[in-house]
Amino acid sequence: MLINYKTYLIFLFGSLAVSIGLQMLLPFPYGLIAALAIFIVFPLFLRNRAMKRMGGMGSDVGGGGSGGGFFGQSQGIKYICLACNNKYKGGMCPRCGSKMKRADF
Ligand SMILES: [Zn+2]
Repeated sequence: MLINYKTYLIFLFGSLAVSIGLQMLLPFPYGLIAALAIFIVFPLFLRNRAMKRMGGMGSDVGGGGSGGGFFGQSQGIKYICLACNNKYKGGMCPRCGSKMKRADF
């Protein structure tokens, strides 16, 4: 992966610090919600950046705009077929029909 571990740790501790700050600044439920949002959004943000960098190399990150892409879920997840190694989106491999798959990030 393009995201190296150190960068990830820096972001992790950074967001930890920010979230602790938020606990102090905001009243109870809001601080917690904001902190959770940060923990959810940061990794996604990093992953999106990495995906954009890879996307330059021709693989069509196509389809765009269908379903709105809530938190990147519907736009991003691809699978790799365990039977024939084909990359695809959706429920089963269009090449060989196998449902054996793993997620590709
Ligand atoms: Zn297949």
